[in-house]
Amino acid sequence: MSATLARDLRTGRSPWMSRPLPAIPFRKLKRDMTADVIVVGAGISGAMVADALTDAGLKVIILDRRGPLMGSTPASTALLQYEIDTPLTELAVRIGLDRAERIWRRSKLALDALRERAAYLGIKADLAVRDTLYLQGDVLDREGLDLEAAARRRAGFEVSVLPAGAVQDRYGLARRAAILGHGNLAADPRRLAAGFLHAALGRGAGIYAPVDVASVETGRDGVTAMTEGGPSVTAPHLVFATGYELPKYVPRKNHRIASTYCIATAPQPSAIPAELPFVWEASEPYLYLRSDQDGRIICGGEDEDFVDEDRRDALMREKTGTIQAKLARLMPGIDSNPVYAWCGSFGASTTGTPSIGAVPKMPGCFAVLGYGGNGITFSMMAAQILRGLIAGNGDTDSDLFSFRRKF
Ligand SMILES: Cc1cc2nc3c(=O)[nH]c(=O)nc-3n(C[C@H](O)[C@H](O)[C@H](O)COP(=O)(O)OP(=O)(O)OC[C@H]3O[C@@H](n4cnc5c(N)ncnc54)[C@H](O)[C@@H]3O)c2cc1C
Repeated sequence: MSATLARDLRTGRSPWMSRPLPAIPFRKLKRDMTADVIVVGAGISGAMVADALTDAGLKVIILDRRGPLMGSTPASTALLQYEIDTPLTELAVRIGLDRAERIWRRSKLALDALRERAAYLGIKADLAVRDTLYLQGDVLDREGLDLEAAARRRAGFEVSVLPAGAVQDRYGLARRAAILGHGNLAADPRRLAAGFLHAALGRGAGIYAPVDVASVETGRDGVTAMTEGGPSVTAPHLVFATGYELPKYVPRKNHRIASTYCIATAPQPSAIPAELPFVWEASEPYLYLRSDQDGRIICGGEDEDFVDEDRRDALMREKTGTIQAKLARLMPGIDSNPVYAWCGSFGASTTGTPSIGAVPKMPGCFAVLGYGGNGITFSMMAAQILRGLIAGNGDTDSDLFSFRRKF
């Protein structure tokens, strides 16, 4: 029995998993403990939340059933973007223009804050600011692209539309018009998360693993995390930052888990334009890519709407072959052969927006469901919002992401 679903989160290796990482100290939980906040999950969401809450002066205990950074975070392709999966024009139709613009703007603020916080903490994670090309596809045709760019400009974003010829000439990509956006961030997700964990540890946080939180009880004395066959931890507040292993206490509506696939090529800096923008196809199924600090291309997509891990893994060769073929068509000048191939479970939400906030009917409990392609941007958004909700200042955007929202 566990408080969260148990999944086989990923298969294969990403480039970051082959790079050495300074040890992140953790301990066994040997006795009952107390804290101001229990954070369940030592992935990038737990790391950023723990950094924010220790910075607010709170004593934080982090519990993880595997160990630090052993969940989905090392599988991330780490295109840290403010542009959310659902185009602003489409989101406006679904939830209203006012809310859609507020969500897009908050996403940009969270990404800016992530970059600024990482710089302030001196985190070394191959961070590099990148533009994004949002390529015309079957989700947005040329007219749709123009309308989307106008909507983004109206909301305050600096964007332009590049004609197909300019996309080809500037970046060597197959001819397709695109929206050019700015200010996104490439990173090594493992090192980025490790940096935030170290910051929290430096302010007295403790990581305990392997500790499976089996159940959570709420009462007048606060929240108690009962661990599988072991001691318990009690605190006034608990945050579920358990990624795609959904807490059983959290409403499932509007969230689903799918399967996704990725490849990384050999380094080839001379074949790739310096500072190649992130590339997203406005297509279904979508394809996305970026370069890394060594001049590899990291490319992903081909999502399947099922969660069965055996089925997911059985399709890996076929799916990564399809990604390679699409990459070769889009960037004919590069060697598209994969040196790394991996796949994983991937959380999606119906609007591409995260759920962050208090868990209904569980006083003192909060959850982060950063589902959608902007998972890491949403981790930072969660750190900001939960700091406000837990450390007492509130957050004027929390209604947009609440588990009680109607949209
Ligand atoms: C292939 C792939 C590509 C992606 N690409 C991007 C991208 O380009 N850009 C982007 O922004 N996002 C991307 N994402 C999403 C992003 O990686 C995730 O949103 C993020 O890593 C989730 O971090 P997390 O800390 O919430 O979850 P995790 O890293 O999974 O951490 C959750 C932790 O909770 C622990 N846990 C769960 N249940 C319990 C329990 N009961 N008791 C104790 N511990 C528990 C787990 O062991 C785990 O360590 C991608 C994801 C995948 C899989």
